[in-house]
Amino acid sequence: MGLIIYLDGQYVEEENAKVSVFDHGLLYGDGVFEGIRAYHGFVFKLKEHIDRLYQGAHTIGLRINETPEEMAQVVVETCRRNNLTDAYIRLVVTRGKGDLGLDPNKCPKSTTFCIAATIKLYPEELYQKGMGVVTVATRRNIAEACNPRVKSLNYLNNIYAKMEANLAGAGEGIMLNNEGYVAEATGDNVFYVKNGVLITPPIYAGLLEGVTRNCVMELARKRGIEVKETLFTRMDLYTADECFLTGTAAEVIPVVKYDGRVIGKGEPGEITKMLIEDYRNYIKNAGDGERI
Ligand code: PMP
Repeated sequence: MGLIIYLDGQYVEEENAKVSVFDHGLLYGDGVFEGIRAYHGFVFKLKEHIDRLYQGAHTIGLRINETPEEMAQVVVETCRRNNLTDAYIRLVVTRGKGDLGLDPNKCPKSTTFCIAATIKLYPEELYQKGMGVVTVATRRNIAEACNPRVKSLNYLNNIYAKMEANLAGAGEGIMLNNEGYVAEATGDNVFYVKNGVLITPPIYAGLLEGVTRNCVMELARKRGIEVKETLFTRMDLYTADECFLTGTAAEVIPVVKYDGRVIGKGEPGEITKMLIEDYRNYIKNAGDGERI
């Protein structure tokens, strides 16, 4: 038996969860989405994900049929109906069905669906030993064209970058913004440590404001670590003491090699290891999650 999917007000079997070929989410990548985790019976940072979804929708002028409160219930209920206490949840709102023109005004009603499935994680070895990443040639979208702050269905920018990282045999690709400053990885945010200070690019560098990013910054501050949001370049990462990526799927993952340069001692750094542990403990204690 397949999964139970939420689709526009109903919970249906996977094989009946169908959207139109005229849906503008499919025709134009017109829509927004979230990737959310549930850990041992709690949906992690649900409010933050729902907020980002609605802010993105608002920005692209997309009306969501469900209220934020209903949407939170949809996420919880989709997990429940699939008997999942640990899950990777994909919540999607598309512009809906229209005609072949790209005009969003031709789409009277948006489409919402929610999938709760399991996740294939990076191998634990990568968390112990760290991963190698490379700079990709594809620049992150400029905010004035397709704002990276909106988690839109238009992921081609990131897919190009991921292809380049794959070609280089790297675990992830680091994307620069149009000015050459480090923006983020293809599906994760970037942090580095220098002289005990934790640094990550500011939102205006052109990146997605990751829920994990914000959580890790908070955990670091709780530890008394100074956290700065500043623009930086590839060289700052080459000469960093430590580096790691954050994301809902990856959580906190150490980076030990960048463009062939060894970072720090070539193994996960002390602050990185501490934050991995803090993040894991935070999850274990359910953080401030929503009960399934
Ligand atoms: N940047 C991009 C481009 C992403 O797709 C993601 C994953 N959603 C992230 C950063 C990390 O965000 P979060 O911590 O909210 O998963």
